[in-house]
Amino acid sequence: VTAAELSGKALATEIRRSVKERAEALAATLAIVVPTTDESTAWYVRSIAKAGEKVGVRTVIRQLDGEPGAEEIRAALRELAADDTVHGIILQTPLPQGVVAAEVAEEIPVAKDVDGASPRSAGHLATGLPAFAPATAAAVIRLLRHHQIPLAGRRVTVVGRSAVVGKPLAQLLLAENATVTIAHSRTADLPAVTRAADVVVAAAGRIGLITAEHIAPGAVVVDVGTNTAADGSLVGDVDAAAVAPVAGMLSPVPGGVGPVTTALLLDHTVTAAAGR
Ligand code: NAP
Repeated sequence: VTAAELSGKALATEIRRSVKERAEALAATLAIVVPTTDESTAWYVRSIAKAGEKVGVRTVIRQLDGEPGAEEIRAALRELAADDTVHGIILQTPLPQGVVAAEVAEEIPVAKDVDGASPRSAGHLATGLPAFAPATAAAVIRLLRHHQIPLAGRRVTVVGRSAVVGKPLAQLLLAENATVTIAHSRTADLPAVTRAADVVVAAAGRIGLITAEHIAPGAVVVDVGTNTAADGSLVGDVDAAAVAPVAGMLSPVPGGVGPVTTALLLDHTVTAAAGR
């Protein structure tokens, strides 16, 4: 036996189609503040812009050169926050050394915070007020729903507790009535903690972290990891060859959470443009 593929491709296509239907009449516009000149970041930002172009979402890239300080980043975000022609704002990572993401992201108004980066959006999410969840966390939920994986009452272990993925995902899973465990680098006996779960979400950024011993027979495994292997290829956190014979379903990398994440960023932008 081998795990069924938890693909995100058809879902991403479906989301993009719905975005396209709504985007044009709204002149939906996404602004991306880029505080780094890193080449792989530039590639990622261009890929969002290209995806936006295809579905009628305009993107404005605000490149900050040199090593911008916190104040320069805040000023760029403030300007876009005040611009009525901009509906969604993303602050692209990595940030320059010493800049605290949550501090600068405070400048993004909740209504334009399409990647849920502001601490206000996180607070809204935790307390049940309307806000956009970080697109990656939202993508995991959408992927599970698309493949009709039930969450209510089931045990879900999230490996990773970052503000971008692990924590907001735990909030979204709680809202789906799952019983949630968050594991991290200080978790004792990670294999036992993940083996106790019906659904395991790997979001640690560690190649090959999740192997067969981590997974209960038939469990659903979602791989959020996007790591660059020694040969330059994109790989997840799950050792797919080892896990596939044990798991019931497994999301591929690439082609799982990634395409859904990009589609949701555009979807959130159109929702923001429509005034929610
Ligand atoms: P991050 O900020 O580096 O957080 C990683 C988390 O994993 C931390 O909580 C860390 O624990 C935990 N961790 C690290 N090593 C571990 C280990 N050996 N055992 C258990 N837990 C461990 O990363 P992130 O931003 O959340 O991203 C996670 C992964 O998702 C990365 O591969 C990233 O590239 C990917 N990602 C993908 C998308 C997408 O669209 N598909 C979007 C965003 C991120 P501590 O807190 O104890 O350090």
